[in-house]
Amino acid sequence: EIRHEVVIVGGGAAGIAVASSLLARKPDLDVAIVDPADIHYYQPGWTMVGGGVFDPRWTAKTMASLIPPGAKWIKAAVAAFEPENNALVLDGCRVVTYGRLVVAPGLKLNWGAIEGLPETLGRNGVTSNYRYDLAPYTWELVRALKRGTALFTQPPMPIKCAGAPQKAMYLAADHWRGAGVLGDIDIHFCNAGAVLFGVKDYVPALMEYVDHYGIHLDFQETLTRIDGPARTAWFTRVGADGMTEAIERRFDMIHVVPPQTAPDFLRVSPLADAAGWMDVDPATLRHRRHPGIYGLGDACNAPNAKTAAAARKQAPIVAHNLLRDMGALREPDAVYDGYGSCPLTVERGKIVLAEFGYGGKLLPSLPGWLIDGRKPSRLAWLLKERMLPWMYWKAMLRGREWLAKPELAA
Ligand code: FAD
Repeated sequence: EIRHEVVIVGGGAAGIAVASSLLARKPDLDVAIVDPADIHYYQPGWTMVGGGVFDPRWTAKTMASLIPPGAKWIKAAVAAFEPENNALVLDGCRVVTYGRLVVAPGLKLNWGAIEGLPETLGRNGVTSNYRYDLAPYTWELVRALKRGTALFTQPPMPIKCAGAPQKAMYLAADHWRGAGVLGDIDIHFCNAGAVLFGVKDYVPALMEYVDHYGIHLDFQETLTRIDGPARTAWFTRVGADGMTEAIERRFDMIHVVPPQTAPDFLRVSPLADAAGWMDVDPATLRHRRHPGIYGLGDACNAPNAKTAAAARKQAPIVAHNLLRDMGALREPDAVYDGYGSCPLTVERGKIVLAEFGYGGKLLPSLPGWLIDGRKPSRLAWLLKERMLPWMYWKAMLRGREWLAKPELAA
């Protein structure tokens, strides 16, 4: 049996950040991170890879190089939780016990839910920025397309980075505009949802780009099946009368965003809510029923935008509250306002920087005269291109919290 004072499940954006935040507060804490992956990805960079801006290699680092000094790495997948025994079971049936548990395994991209998709991904004009190995193929397809039909799909919510499906589309359209072929390409945004973006303040700026690029918005259309060699995709559309119909669309290229769920081992565990997500208090990120257990990142059910930006704010909150529960801190609880951020790459060189918290409340990080999030901004692009990757690797993952100081309860 292996035992650690604090065990963190998942060494992604959230898991590494929370480990560093804990150790920044209490350097002698006995922390272990459980993750089977050799490579950790900076996924927010994949939109830029698909747009031909970033080299994919900039978005990957070895897990070993990111585990903070002082933390142990248990290189294995968690198979099951046993909260009543303060234990988890690893693949291969090894047991790990803990004093406190932090759950941050991200979410599951359910490629298999679309019939025919797994076998044609990466071929026949079928791509997705949601995978490291496929984002470069997006750029390859975009550059090669001179005429025809380009489809961009968005599955039902929740998904990570809700803006990413349309970011891929705007960067593609901007390239086609520059290449003088935009008029020969029929662009469709086939969105399972009924709105362009969930926070209405950002919609007018996005609609200007939709019009400018001549994009057709096809709302309430959910991708169900794809035949790569036949270059055909099928959708279910919900009409105004609530009736559903099947739509068939031909494509020359299609950018697919898969439906997303909680990871299977979490979904079937006692820690999940009815929908399968980690059941946490949205303000304190403690588990709602099991004391000593915390959740953050894409896996949890707090109604924030599932983004690395959210994990950046959540990590110090979990670290603070966990250490407080252990008696190592005396201050009141840290509380999370739901901050998340989605930099919408509306053209190469400009971003509509959505930053908002619970209930769609706007939470800009910078004063309005520097960046007004509701308008396309060059400075926001520079932030995304030059600053955010550096902030991610050097500050967020290392527990330097100058941009994520937690608010304490009054
Ligand atoms: P992840 O970073 O996905 O990490 C999960 C970790 O858990 C992985 O290391 C995995 O190996 C591990 N794990 C899984 N199963 C197990 C198991 N059984 N046992 C142990 N470990 C396990 N966010 C932004 O802020 N801004 C953006 O512009 C942005 N754009 C994006 C664009 C794209 C195309 C994508 C895909 C994402 C984007 N995001 C963006 C979202 C962001 O990447 C995620 O919200 C963030 O990575 C979530 O962190 P996480 O730690 O919860 O999950």
